[in-house]
Amino acid sequence: MRLLIAEDDPIIADGLCRTLRGNGFAVDRAANGLDADTALMANNYDLLILDLGLPKMPGLEVLRRLRARGSALPVLILTALDGTGDRVRGLDLGADDYMAKPFELPELEARVRALTRRSSGTTPKVQCGALTYDQVSRSAMLNGQVLDLSARELGLLEVLLSRTGRLVSKDQLVDHLCGWGEEVSHNAIEVYVHRLRKKLEPGGVRIATVRGLGYCLEKPQETRSA
Ligand code: CA
Repeated sequence: MRLLIAEDDPIIADGLCRTLRGNGFAVDRAANGLDADTALMANNYDLLILDLGLPKMPGLEVLRRLRARGSALPVLILTALDGTGDRVRGLDLGADDYMAKPFELPELEARVRALTRRSSGTTPKVQCGALTYDQVSRSAMLNGQVLDLSARELGLLEVLLSRTGRLVSKDQLVDHLCGWGEEVSHNAIEVYVHRLRKKLEPGGVRIATVRGLGYCLEKPQETRSA
């Protein structure tokens, strides 16, 4: 999943970025409203974390433009503690949730999980053969055993699971796994896929390589007939 953080305070932005990357999200950053607006038009995100007090273009205007383009992207707004008016206006303009500064990172993580889960529009648990993925805790189990996955492997698994039985290209994986400024090559993607494949193998869950095109997490029935 890919998130955009629009926040001009570098300390808050750094903290958010580090925490969310550690949770396996790909994170892009915009330090002003104009850059955020441009990034939102150019990329597909799963969540926007939007500070309302942004230079160049206020957060509320970024939000208004986003909704005017018909986007249903989940938006979590960050407001000053006394910004009740802003908060109400933000929610009126179509924000999905808000947090008042200063906030505790664990609470923010919980809200991010809730919003990204809601946007995926599915039940909390996804099943693929012997694999169960819990979208709430973002943990995977294979044959009832917890799978130990790195942040990258977790991100990769989420993308593949969201498109089970369908082709996912390497470019799509790079797009979903990596924020700006992160150099991730197709070779690196191959390494992540290789590692994840090894971990899923004991449960008979297969990631097929579609040569020259990308990867496909096979549906359980295809696995059985293979
Ligand atoms: Ca600000």
